[in-house]
Amino acid sequence: MDFQLSEEQNLIRDSAISMVERDIQPVLDAHPADQPLPKSALQGLFAVTARQGLSAPRLPVEYGGGGLKMLDYGLIFEQLPAWFAVSVMAHEVTVSRIFAESTPEQRERFLPDLLSGKKIAGTATSEPGAGSDPRGMTTRMDIDGDTAIVNGRKLWISNGSVADIMAVTCIDGVDDKGRNTLKRIIVEPDVSNFEVREIETVGLQQGHLAEAVFEDCRVPVENILSSGGDAARMLTVTWNGNRPLIGLAAAGLTQKAFDQAVDYAGVREQFGKPIAGHQLVQQHLADIESAIMTTRLLCYYALDMMDQGKRENGAAAMAKRHATKSCEAAISLAMHVHGGMGITREAGLEQLWRDVRMLSVPDGIDDILTLIQGREITGIAAFR
Ligand SMILES: Cc1cc2nc3c(=O)[nH]c(=O)nc-3n(C[C@H](O)[C@H](O)[C@H](O)COP(=O)(O)OP(=O)(O)OC[C@H]3O[C@@H](n4cnc5c(N)ncnc54)[C@H](O)[C@@H]3O)c2cc1C
Repeated sequence: MDFQLSEEQNLIRDSAISMVERDIQPVLDAHPADQPLPKSALQGLFAVTARQGLSAPRLPVEYGGGGLKMLDYGLIFEQLPAWFAVSVMAHEVTVSRIFAESTPEQRERFLPDLLSGKKIAGTATSEPGAGSDPRGMTTRMDIDGDTAIVNGRKLWISNGSVADIMAVTCIDGVDDKGRNTLKRIIVEPDVSNFEVREIETVGLQQGHLAEAVFEDCRVPVENILSSGGDAARMLTVTWNGNRPLIGLAAAGLTQKAFDQAVDYAGVREQFGKPIAGHQLVQQHLADIESAIMTTRLLCYYALDMMDQGKRENGAAAMAKRHATKSCEAAISLAMHVHGGMGITREAGLEQLWRDVRMLSVPDGIDDILTLIQGREITGIAAFR
């Protein structure tokens, strides 16, 4: 067991840091921090990440993907600004789903522009009445000759308002146990008519989180992705990969808060000495550092299990739940170390806190992750 990054992994992480400093952060800084980034600017960023294989890190190189190990992808992911990391993930995981569920003709039609970053993708699964339990969804597609007619409402779609390609998860029938069977269909705003609205949230505000309403939305039947079996299974597989990645985005935010708290504690003086010299402040700093380290170790462990082809359901759920819980508390502690300064906009910590708060929700909210881990431990599902 080796707890150090290899030379190659250090290079991967360092080149991600350079990419963010050189090509990404200046674009974000040139736009308001509390509004969704304009699509043209986001496309520019996607062109940058496409060159690094991040349009499809999980796909093999022979299919145009980045062919990255999940752990190496995680090392890069941790360095991306959190909202942009969520956007990149929403795109690339949609690419993976399309790849897995497409016929060769569909791959040829949809993938090239997604791999080059020219087009942006997102997956629409959650609904007003179906979040943690996607099988409860009501959006359906019905076939009318060579057209599929989609009716329903989707919520919380990452990249939703900027997506050129939206993979919409729909009910298309019922299995022999009476459960809804799900399929995805590619809906393109250029081709089909549906409404999209941006949702305002407390954090990750340069990102795009949308509601989409489909009313008799007509989509060519050639856009139905049907060669990969039940779309619900593919959701589970990809959510397992996403969970530790989101955990690492939380670690990235917390590292920033930690660095700031250490600097501040070294210069802020009270009772005749830097506050860093007071034992309780050192305890806060130690707690924040421990949250970052335990988060990293659990997330790296879960990603490494995936790379080794081991069953990672429990580890991935544990990693994300621990990450978002402990990192949210840790960023709050970093604010506490700053005293009154900690709650000012100027210090910037409140934005990290709002951003990390968002990360506990997608791809498995805490309680659901607890139940997934519990099912792995006991062999008994306690969801219903
Ligand atoms: C930043 C962000 C990005 C997102 N991106 C996407 C996206 O790209 N595509 C997409 O489709 N969705 C996306 N989502 C939606 C996200 O997946 C859902 O919000 C999430 O699954 C939770 O669903 P819900 O909001 O309906 O909450 P609900 O499922 O209604 O949960 C409400 C509460 O009930 C609890 N609960 C539910 N069931 C149980 C149970 N069995 N036992 C105990 N407690 C339970 C939950 O833990 C929670 O506290 C995103 C959300 C966010 C915040």
